[in-house]
Amino acid sequence: MDMKFFEELEAKIPHGEVRTRFAPSPTGYMHVGGIRTALYTWLIARKAGGKFILRIEDTDQERFVEGATDVIYSSLRDAGLTWDEGPDIGGPVAPYVQTERRGLYMPFAELLVEKGCAYRCFCEKTESEEDSGNFDRAEDPCRSLTKEESDRRAAAGEPYVIRQKIPHEGSTTFHDEIFGDISAPNADLDDQVLMKRDGLPTYNFANVIDDHLMGITHVVRGTEYLSSTPKYNLLYEGFGWEPPVYIHCSPVMRDAQHKLSKRHGDPTYDDLLAQGYLREAIINYIALLGWSPAGEREIFSLSELAEAFDLKGISKSPAIFDIVKLTYFNSEYIRALSPEKFLELARPYITKAVPDGMDCELIASLLQQRCEKLTDIPEQLTFLASLPDYGTELYVNKKSKTDEAVSLEMLNSVKPILEGIDVWTQENIHDKLIAYAEANEIKNAKLLWPLRIAISGQTVTPGGAFEIAYLLGKDETMKRIDKGVALLSAFLAERKE
Ligand code: GLU
Repeated sequence: MDMKFFEELEAKIPHGEVRTRFAPSPTGYMHVGGIRTALYTWLIARKAGGKFILRIEDTDQERFVEGATDVIYSSLRDAGLTWDEGPDIGGPVAPYVQTERRGLYMPFAELLVEKGCAYRCFCEKTESEEDSGNFDRAEDPCRSLTKEESDRRAAAGEPYVIRQKIPHEGSTTFHDEIFGDISAPNADLDDQVLMKRDGLPTYNFANVIDDHLMGITHVVRGTEYLSSTPKYNLLYEGFGWEPPVYIHCSPVMRDAQHKLSKRHGDPTYDDLLAQGYLREAIINYIALLGWSPAGEREIFSLSELAEAFDLKGISKSPAIFDIVKLTYFNSEYIRALSPEKFLELARPYITKAVPDGMDCELIASLLQQRCEKLTDIPEQLTFLASLPDYGTELYVNKKSKTDEAVSLEMLNSVKPILEGIDVWTQENIHDKLIAYAEANEIKNAKLLWPLRIAISGQTVTPGGAFEIAYLLGKDETMKRIDKGVALLSAFLAERKE
């Protein structure tokens, strides 16, 4: 055994700082549970002034998805979860992609064989039997092979996997920050595969080796790994290494029975962005899925989260993802944006919905307080692009004291006033109409309700008559008023008959 190999690796391990890692497998998307794990992992590091490390766990080559690592990078970057060490930026314990570390694992597996904590298994088994641990170690002939026999068969080129040798007796206990002390009888643990026939480690082995060699102090992951953790602890013990602090988080659920799942149509992080949710709102909401801050407050920026985050607030029970709650968070975030920022975010949605040249800034200012998601924007603006069909009953309104006849009168009155405006500004439209209402002792609402109906074809609009008329421009405004006059005239004529 080349002890220098181990010594050199040991010498590189950073000490004396909190080091956490997010260790996703490249699946091609970032699910909500994944981004939450990344977030908690990042928060622990940031709060402690430590390091957040990104490691790509790609040893399962059958599940390889082209471009999947880029999705991890882009989602984390987008969410603001910047890493201090990782595949793209390197670091003291590089490389940070497991397949690029492939040469590292076998010597450690052999060291375990040497120590009697693992053995070569020459039995032919399907990968799925191995993965599920569906294998009876009591009957496995390889567990009790002599060292000489095992060495001889390996040297003769017989293919083998390396399995962990779990003691038959006793039990293994570990501590989890969320679930407390957990004990498992060793008899219940399987002799899991550590090294596969393809020479690559399983996740179960690689995570231990990498967490140790990368100096990871806190491991955050899903509760689906709780049952394997006693086996990891036996590995740490076998090597004589200190295990990390474990933080197992309960899953994010769609409902009481089902985990959130992309396959069943639940949104990924990217889907939520595409659905018009702001990253800040998503992150804030996701932070609260399974973690409760000490006080009543719910709205936190990322840096405020880093200050407030405390492991004590992590819940044992699964959290249900509630899109309604997220939507509420989102509207709060949209409202709190500066007008400039909102304009920047809303502009692509606005320009898609309205004719070229319309005043985006004004439209954005009308929308900011009235949209829950950015994707709500286009449907609120369709009336600007074309006047929807509408019925004359919209003109009837108790509050403004208008009916069809009054509305026709009002439209006929505003027509010449608007015609007379040479410089089509919001201010001019406003001033001229208000002056007319005052001079003729007409209530503003009585004059403006019919105008707004005529130029929008709907009773609820972002902005009022002045803004809409201004946005439409003089020609289109006049055309729409004419259409209103025609509709109302036809309606009244028919009623007379
Ligand atoms: N690669 C594992 C996953 O994507 C990571 C589990 C862990 O953090 O240890 O689920």
